[in-house]
Amino acid sequence: MNMLPTEIELEFRCNGCSTDNKEQFVDLVWDFVESQNRQVVLENHYVATMQTNCNCGATIEIEYHIWEYPVGAINTDEIQITNGTKI
Ligand SMILES: [Zn+2]
Repeated sequence: MNMLPTEIELEFRCNGCSTDNKEQFVDLVWDFVESQNRQVVLENHYVATMQTNCNCGATIEIEYHIWEYPVGAINTDEIQITNGTKI
């Protein structure tokens, strides 16, 4: 899982006050979620969870999902934001 990124810069809009925020998250901690056999080749799913606060006080929670397939390559990634919208 050494292809997993250690940092990510995200721009997102707060759902509470509609302010645009930009933040650099570093030292991402990746949790292993699951493995699935896809036509004999293993697919691994990882997630890094980050949290930050908007100036209005809203807590923004970000989940950065990565699917490794085949092993050693990033096939898909997805950002999910609670209380915010990716811009
Ligand atoms: Zn806000």
